[in-house]
Amino acid sequence: MSVSFLQQPVQFLKGVGPRRADVLKEEGIITVADLLSLFPRRYLDRTSVQAIRDLKAGSDPVTVMGTVVVASLIPGRRGKRFEIVVEDEPGRRMKCVWFQGVAWISRVIEKGHRLALHGKPSRYGGSLSFSHPDFDRIDEEGPSMETGRIIALYPGTANLQKAGLTSRSFRRIIYELLKEHGEELRENLPDDVLEADGLLDGRVARRAVHFPRNQEELKAARHRLKFEELFFFQLMLATTRTKREALPGLRVPGGGVLETRFVDEILPFRFTSAQERSLVEISADMDSGKQMNRLLQGDVGSGKTVVAATAALKAIDAGHQAVVMAPTEILCEQHFRSLSQLMEPLGVRVGLLTGSTSAANRRVLLEDLSSGRLSLLVGTHAVIQDGVEFASLALAVIDEQHRFGVMQRATLFDKGTRPHMLLMTATPIPRSLALTLYGDLHVSIMRERPPGRQPITTKMVREKERERVYNMMREEVRQGRQCYVVFPLVEESEKLDLRDAVSGHEHLSEEFPGVSVELIHGRMKAPEKEEAMARFVAGTSPILVSTTVIEVGVDVPAATFMLIEHAERFGLSQLHQLRGRIGRGEHASTCILMAEYRQSEESRRRLKAMEDTEDGFRISEIDMELRGVGDFFGTKQSGLPAFRIADILQDQSILESAREAAFKLMARDPGLTAAENRVMRDWFETFVLSEGLRLSRIG
Ligand code: ADP
Ligand code: MG
Repeated sequence: MSVSFLQQPVQFLKGVGPRRADVLKEEGIITVADLLSLFPRRYLDRTSVQAIRDLKAGSDPVTVMGTVVVASLIPGRRGKRFEIVVEDEPGRRMKCVWFQGVAWISRVIEKGHRLALHGKPSRYGGSLSFSHPDFDRIDEEGPSMETGRIIALYPGTANLQKAGLTSRSFRRIIYELLKEHGEELRENLPDDVLEADGLLDGRVARRAVHFPRNQEELKAARHRLKFEELFFFQLMLATTRTKREALPGLRVPGGGVLETRFVDEILPFRFTSAQERSLVEISADMDSGKQMNRLLQGDVGSGKTVVAATAALKAIDAGHQAVVMAPTEILCEQHFRSLSQLMEPLGVRVGLLTGSTSAANRRVLLEDLSSGRLSLLVGTHAVIQDGVEFASLALAVIDEQHRFGVMQRATLFDKGTRPHMLLMTATPIPRSLALTLYGDLHVSIMRERPPGRQPITTKMVREKERERVYNMMREEVRQGRQCYVVFPLVEESEKLDLRDAVSGHEHLSEEFPGVSVELIHGRMKAPEKEEAMARFVAGTSPILVSTTVIEVGVDVPAATFMLIEHAERFGLSQLHQLRGRIGRGEHASTCILMAEYRQSEESRRRLKAMEDTEDGFRISEIDMELRGVGDFFGTKQSGLPAFRIADILQDQSILESAREAAFKLMARDPGLTAAENRVMRDWFETFVLSEGLRLSRIG
């Protein structure tokens, strides 16, 4: 199948036609290539089908095959439900019931149909049943089930089913397609890659993933196709990196007078060895003559800010400017405060630009920026807006970079002279994920925290212990230390949460007479927030009540106590970020998770994980397990590609070898011009690069 054939619309295939083509289009299946990559969601293997008589309520999900003997729509108080009774051998029956999608499901399932049903057996009104099982019609199979073959099951959305696009029709359409055109399929991976990784031939794999002869062949086919998908994705990253590294970058030699004075005279501490190491890597990048693209990954509190400040001074020493972009105003204000403090003694001018900067101030700021009088700009995404021109921008730092979209990164990159980029994140992620999300970047990791940090004791408590918690807070305050009290912010009911934080503030003011209690929430005006924050930072107010606005980056070393209200409502990574606000000084800290009595199993596990570990890497692993990768990186802007067959967490070792193969190939043949790579290149340009472009437009 040539590349151009693969790009043909599916409409002209046998068994499709214009109406079905429209429905397929809604599911993202437009071309022949799309159809061939519609991988089965599951397989039905005769040998793994369970007999109804062996089912046990509460067991893991199982597959059952049987004939529909009763099908009925039953009216109920909350609308209709659809029930069927299925029989697999005389007298052995089970029920299946649907409460949702009743209208269309009752239309596609009829008495007499043979079905494969997949679900979790439970007891329902005395008999064994599946509720909302996955189902497929398996009667009238062409090359049939009865021979013991493994049958592919395809996604079965309501849309597809309504258009008659059942698994059976997908099998037919793909069967015809492969029969007529299968011989034309060309191998799209280089020979040496196939050999080195022991991969199944591409044509065989494409046939076998839809029509496997046996489990071994299926396994080999899936392995090959996962490899292929990951290989091309990594090849895209390798291309991006190679192209970027071909561009000249500003040479910033480092070791200048500002940087030296900063490290020797101004910093009140010595760098940790992790900070040292990262700075060595950053220096080498900035002095390489190529543009730097580095991700600095360090858990909360590992000290990323001073690393960024040192890098900024390298740029300023060389007569250029630097910008630090951060996601929230509070964080920007804090960076502005601490960076000004560190840099003013050196005579370096720092500016702050956010959405709440007044028009007059903004004008002055922009003038100073374009004339070069201002050396360091701190700000929210306001810094990438039109009109913000630098005289000579050499370094762009993006703090908490996962909060920004790919596009925002790109806009910053295109400011002026293509600055060196330092991306910082406190979200530690497993290696395979890092290779996917940041595979085109170089990565510095700081696992170590500054010395002398005391561990944080984390405890989940109940409402009835509230008085004891307040006593602990009183003791902290008496010792001159500070406390955060955090309320959740649930999007659907911001008003309610606002009331929570506000009434919480009132309540605490009464509980702590004579102690000044501050309040910060998202609805306050910037200057008010700033003033409240400033009083807390200065220590004149020992207690700060807030919503999650303090989640990222806020740094007050004297804060040793955090009370998180309704802790069960927070996500795990969010709890970890919040807790990262304490334990930043030399005193031991305590984090109290106030939780409801009634909790879901998942929230119990989250809170338990918080009690058990402070290791950010461990925390995000658990979080990913609990939520799934998709949800973990739930934002569109994360840039996590939607793989069709590969699973980043489970296919780590395939990913590693695919990456190695892709980068090796790129090193050997950077333009992919070698004759033996022609087919691959065609494929790559048509199906991967265009998808990649689509990807980078998100966010
Ligand atoms: P994060 O990596 O979470 O952004 P910060 O940069 O806010 O962490 O640093 C956390 C705290 O640790 C700050 O108060 C900072 O001054 C302090 N810090 C950073 N590096 C060191 C060090 N090498 N020794 C002692 N304290 C440090
Ligand atoms: Mg930070």
